[in-house]
Amino acid sequence: MTLADYVNTFGQDMVARHGERVHKIAIDAGFSCPNRDGSKGHGGCTFCNNASFSPNGRKPPPIANQIAAGKQVIRKRTGARKYLAYFQAYTNTYADIGHLRAQYDQALDDPDVIGLSIGTRPDCVPPAVLDLLADYRDQGYEIWLELGLQSIFDTTLERVNRGHSLIEYEQAIRDAQARHLNTCTHLIVGLPGETEDHVIQSLDHVLMLGVQGLKLHPLHVVKGTRLANDWRRGEYQPLSYEQYVHTVVDLIERTPPDIIYHRITATASRDILLAPDWCAHKWKVINGIESVLRCRHTRQGSHCVSGLSPSTVLEGSRPDDRRQFVARTL
Ligand code: SF4
Repeated sequence: MTLADYVNTFGQDMVARHGERVHKIAIDAGFSCPNRDGSKGHGGCTFCNNASFSPNGRKPPPIANQIAAGKQVIRKRTGARKYLAYFQAYTNTYADIGHLRAQYDQALDDPDVIGLSIGTRPDCVPPAVLDLLADYRDQGYEIWLELGLQSIFDTTLERVNRGHSLIEYEQAIRDAQARHLNTCTHLIVGLPGETEDHVIQSLDHVLMLGVQGLKLHPLHVVKGTRLANDWRRGEYQPLSYEQYVHTVVDLIERTPPDIIYHRITATASRDILLAPDWCAHKWKVINGIESVLRCRHTRQGSHCVSGLSPSTVLEGSRPDDRRQFVARTL
């Protein structure tokens, strides 16, 4: 048995829909972040690594080179021959539309790149950006909008200095749904002041609003962050490995089976990771989650509480009744 026997993973969804493995290649297109430059906030999120952030000095390699390098590594490791360009670093919709189109087009110039996954903040997706993504989707590309929400609780968002609140996320989801765009929401487990109950409420709310994909990851304490100072002072206590694994299993069990898990944990490079240590061992965490699901004889959806499964993927196939429900609820 593998994780895919218990969880609807992005990898297996790609094989089912494209007939072969499709992997994401992480791209740094040199974007900045409005929560760093003062337009939304100053200093960034408390967990965001300040040391690596120098918008003026940061000169990532050309996108074509990043894709070529990524293809080489992934092809060797997994055999995948098709890819999504994952615009990951910072806020990848934070520029004028002409610049965004030029960056995305560069990635799509590679014949092996069949689509885009665009990581951004919920307060940074104006209609023109969503129209652009919908246009790529209409051309036949696989398009995902990845929204970093992290928590539905405004007190938590304020505490970690996210610079946006839940309401911007709700608007972004509504606008994306109006264009039938696939969205993947990011949630963090272990945020300061939060318990498992908070994360469960965040998950339930996000599912109720309607998403097609989810990413979960543990809160890392990395060097050069305000969170690191809190941790050194004993004001922030990271989750234990067991807490993380059991919380994620609880979340997976509550998630309808058609939702695609793009990620269930994340790692940080050893040179910047301060705590918790177990975050450095991605496969140990994934194997632990699989093992707990096996022991509990459960899988994704086993304890799904919502009668409203949010969606099926692509081509505007989300049921109308769900859209109406969301419109009524917001
Ligand atoms: S929104 Fe992202 S890039 Fe911007 S400060 Fe927060 S974590 Fe860092």
